[in-house]
Amino acid sequence: MRGLADTGLVIDALERGIEGDGISRDQALLLVEHADRGSLLQAARSVRDRSKGRTVSYSKKVFIPLTNLCRDYCGYCTFRTDPLPDREPFLTPQEVLAVAEAGCRVGCKEALFSLGDQPETVFPEARAFLRRQGFGRTLEYLAAMTQLVLDETGLLPHSNPGLMPAVDLGRLKETNISLGLMLETGSRRLSRSGGPHWRAPDKVPLLRLQTIEEAGRLSVAFTTGILIGIGETAEERIDSLLAIRELHRKYGHIQEVIVQPFRAKPGTRMALAVEPSAEDLLETLAIARLIFGADMNIQSPPNLLSNDYPKLLEAGINDWGGISPVTKDYINPEAAWPDISLLAEKTAAAGFALRERLAIYPEFSSRPGFVDRRLQSPLRKLQGEDGYARN
Ligand code: SF4
Repeated sequence: MRGLADTGLVIDALERGIEGDGISRDQALLLVEHADRGSLLQAARSVRDRSKGRTVSYSKKVFIPLTNLCRDYCGYCTFRTDPLPDREPFLTPQEVLAVAEAGCRVGCKEALFSLGDQPETVFPEARAFLRRQGFGRTLEYLAAMTQLVLDETGLLPHSNPGLMPAVDLGRLKETNISLGLMLETGSRRLSRSGGPHWRAPDKVPLLRLQTIEEAGRLSVAFTTGILIGIGETAEERIDSLLAIRELHRKYGHIQEVIVQPFRAKPGTRMALAVEPSAEDLLETLAIARLIFGADMNIQSPPNLLSNDYPKLLEAGINDWGGISPVTKDYINPEAAWPDISLLAEKTAAAGFALRERLAIYPEFSSRPGFVDRRLQSPLRKLQGEDGYARN
């Protein structure tokens, strides 16, 4: 319901948001239901402009899909597969290195490892491959592959391997400049039979929040966020953002929050589900900016909004995320990343300067305890004096 933007409570909530220290749950709900869209986006923009200025960042990355095998069956996913007769279950070390080197040749600085969750727990083929390589678990193989890429190419690894127990977070921190796990949603309802997270044991919100919390305890610079439009209510969306904020307020380790729109993909259970509109995405980004306040980096990928992506800047974001000049977005293969020079042009046309950052944001790379000693030297080689990527 719109049209009550002039009521005192709505104005108070907007003013509180503009202060940049974060708004309460009640204020967020009030704004979602009653603020007019223009005022909401304007408030988010003003917070962003004051804290981040007119700089919008991105990371030049190469995407390494270590394995598509996954024990989960999320209703919207085309990335996962069961074992296929004509395909190795994982990339081999040689293949990993070949992709990383291709990225190096075109100036990438981040090696993004994305993979399915714990396939070895359900697929004998995965266990056999890992055993041949000398490992028992996917997360151990991942640690070795990130080490390999770091040692051989100097690219800074960032991994999104799903749930991570503390022991794996600690090990991966030695070779990953940052780690990530999308919360996606805090709603347990969506795990029920037939829902988007049905048959997805790794999407239980409590378990994901445990990984995010453990990362905080270990001072891991962490990326997380929400996936919108998978059946959650506006209230659940806000609660998901607040759950992330609560952990960030406790540990200070969330370096960026992503708001990603669901995209319906042929061949999935949710192929016919309605996608969230651009307006819905913009409003959620604005609410995220007001919930997290001035300091947080708010990101939305440009390739999921076709050519309209500069509009995202109107909702208070300050980061485009990782863009690869060499590999496709394996999670959304139908959505090509924009060419980086075009991204720079469009960002400039909207009044912003595009800056390349590393897979760790400048404010985290200088914080004591966040960068393992083994990563200090590779980091320095790629980082300029102001913490962004060296030209
Ligand atoms: S979204 Fe991730 S966890 Fe879910 S099925 Fe796909 S790869 Fe597995």
